[in-house]
Order: sequence, then C-alpha cells, then structure tokens
Amino acid sequence: MKKFNGITSLLFFAVSMLLGLYILWANNVNLAILYVILLLAAAVLIPYVYCTKCPCRKTNCAHVFPGLITRFMPDRDSENYTVFDWTLVMIFMGLLIVLPQFWLYENILLFSIFWISSIIAGIQILFFICKTCDNKKCILCGQRS
Ligand code: SF4
Ligand code: SF4
Repeated sequence: MKKFNGITSLLFFAVSMLLGLYILWANNVNLAILYVILLLAAAVLIPYVYCTKCPCRKTNCAHVFPGLITRFMPDRDSENYTVFDWTLVMIFMGLLIVLPQFWLYENILLFSIFWISSIIAGIQILFFICKTCDNKKCILCGQRS
C-alpha cells in the first residue's frame, strides 16, 4: 500500500507539472523552456541532495523511482540533512509550483486540476507514507522519537 501511494503521488505531481508546462508553453515559450530545465534539474538534484542520504533508497523507497535513480549516485547515508539540502529542495519545489500560477489562475479548470492533484499527492505522502517511513533524518518522518 505504501508503494501504491508512493507511485500514485508521483503521478499526481506529474499531472500538475505537465499542466504547468502546458500553460507556460501556451503563454510564454521562454518560461516553458526554463520550466523543462527546472524539471530535469529537479529530477537529478533532489534525489542527489535528499535521497542519497535516505536509508530506504536501496531497499524500501516508497516512491520507487527516486530510489532507483540514486543507484547511480554516491552513497551519503551517513550524513544528516543540512540547511542547504532543505533550501535546495524548497527552491525547486517552490519554483515548479509558483511559475505557472500567473496564467493558471486565469483558467479555473486547469487551476483546479493542478491544485487538486498536488493536494492529493501531498495528503498521500504526509498521511500514508511519512508516518511509516524509515528515514528518521527527515523531519516529516513519523518514526522519529
Ligand atoms: S523514501 Fe527516501 S529514497 Fe525514496 S523518495 Fe523518499 S527520500 Fe528519496
Ligand atoms: S518522511 Fe516523508 S518526506 Fe521524509 S523521506 Fe520519508 S516519505 Fe519522504
């Protein structure tokens, strides 16, 4: 069940990001290209700064794919998360969410799908994955004492 939530939450996020890319492409091609670059960079950098420090990544990654990506990255299990790690993840996530909003809010249907998908993904992660995640270094982990 954890992996079901892990994979489907990524799919819901993917729906939001694709809608973001679509709306940017329709209104500002330069920003759409920047968005693609941000997506590709996030797909590599977030697993590098976050997942390489996660003890679940080789055996029990709920999202499956980030864990697989880190097989090609150096092992950093022994290090704790730093302000830099958190800041980088927040900047990428923030930009990917905020950039399309200027045009999305003009289209109530796409705006609604974007936010409903993102909120469902967030709920799946917070309430069905983090609670039983073994990554005790993460502040969202429900196993931390
Ligand atoms: S469970 Fe660990 S490896 Fe999987 S996405 Fe989360 S931090 Fe990355
Ligand atoms: S506690 Fe949640 S956010 Fe943190 S690594 Fe685990 S699944 Fe990801």
